[in-house]
Amino acid sequence: MPKVYFSRRSRRAPAHVLDIEIDRRTPQKSWRQLARERGYTYFGRDPHNRGNVYLRCSACANLMYVHTHVLRTAKPECTACWLADMAREAAAAGLEFVERHPTDSHRGIYRAPCGHLLDRQRGFIQRVVLGEVDVRCSECFEGSVAALAHDQGWELVGLSGQGNPEYRKLRHQCGHEQDIAIGNLRTQRFTCNGCGGSWAAEPSFLYLCQFDLPGSQGSFVKLGMSRNPTSRLRYQLGITADIQARILQEISMESGSAALRTEKRLHGVLRAELPHCVVPPSELNWIGVVSEVYRIEALPRIQALLAELSQPHSEN
Ligand SMILES: [Zn+2]
Ligand SMILES: [Zn+2]
Ligand SMILES: [Zn+2]
Repeated sequence: MPKVYFSRRSRRAPAHVLDIEIDRRTPQKSWRQLARERGYTYFGRDPHNRGNVYLRCSACANLMYVHTHVLRTAKPECTACWLADMAREAAAAGLEFVERHPTDSHRGIYRAPCGHLLDRQRGFIQRVVLGEVDVRCSECFEGSVAALAHDQGWELVGLSGQGNPEYRKLRHQCGHEQDIAIGNLRTQRFTCNGCGGSWAAEPSFLYLCQFDLPGSQGSFVKLGMSRNPTSRLRYQLGITADIQARILQEISMESGSAALRTEKRLHGVLRAELPHCVVPPSELNWIGVVSEVYRIEALPRIQALLAELSQPHSEN
């Protein structure tokens, strides 16, 4: 039970609802006045720690616990009012405020309409509310860039090494890596400096490989296309030595563009049939790709799809 020390004058105070001990005996007059000037009502003192006092926020009636030093030297910030302001600003920006940033009081953690969490400056959210900037989910954005690149035979490796936010480092099906502007990717105004675009007409492969991660991290499969799956597996995926990787299957295709077309169709089937097996980019920190990786449970279905491809089209 809470234990409250009342002065005769403050006997009606509702401190009994609080599970804390508060010394409500008459404070120094200057503290009452100081609290009022800061936007609070002086409520009482911590009987166990005489340096701390309780203040009631005049705006929201929330009870605050602050050191007298803070009360003397600055305007204490009411946590309840701050949280309410953050939530209001977030809603006005089309987001949901989730929680305060663990280390930076000028930032917050927000949930975007897509469900992803965003770590943003509070000032940025305020500018979104004013219509000065747009808020964009980086995870969805990178996913859309990866999809765009993939459709053209490229794979998103990551941000450009030059640090230009308009560029991404991409890896071509031929194995060549190159920085390409996102704008050029959209308009398809670029060619591969490695192969000059010849991969599209040259023979290629669909491949299926399995990765066994150490410990209890599980096994995964990747379905992709490459002119040289072995080299792709060994040198281009950026996996560490403690991950076991092996190619389960390779199917030769007459051209890079045919391989790409087929691969795209298969990924569509898998995403639709086995959405729970699609590994999200946030879990792909062990491999240098952001998509095309599935949980091991998808393996039988992928093998069945590949078996259909290898079969002669007898029904025609
Ligand atoms: Zn308040
Ligand atoms: Zn998102
Ligand atoms: Zn190329």
